[in-house]
Amino acid sequence: MNDCLFCKIVAGEIPAKIVYEDEQVIAFEDINPQAPEHLLIIPRRHIACLADAKPEDAALLGHIQYVIAELSRSRKFAEPGFRVVNNCNADGGQEVGHIHYHLLAGRKMEWPPG
Ligand code: 5GP
Ligand code: ZN
Repeated sequence: MNDCLFCKIVAGEIPAKIVYEDEQVIAFEDINPQAPEHLLIIPRRHIACLADAKPEDAALLGHIQYVIAELSRSRKFAEPGFRVVNNCNADGGQEVGHIHYHLLAGRKMEWPPG
């Protein structure tokens, strides 16, 4: 876990543009944005990916969804809307092995995803 990039951001060892934080989660700007608004929401506690979620993680993961809803309202894109993405493991396209939710907004999203 010491080599985990996002654990280092949580610890303040690597800088990030943090837009929200509480005792459980932080949200920060993606370094390579794929939309006008591209935030990453992560738990402070290391969980490798969504497939590793355990019963005791359920409240934390629910809290992340609530934080996403709050961010969408405070940042004024609840309307017209936004997309939440979680990439899990290799086929999901996950590159950083600390669970994170992409929050994308500011443009019309396409479907299906690539
Ligand atoms: P994944 O492909 O794992 O779902 O997404 C990882 C995301 O982390 C990518 O969108 C990538 O741009 C972002 N990212 C990678 N390294 C850094 C970094 O050092 N700082 C920030 N803010 N984002 C990063
Ligand atoms: Zn981590």
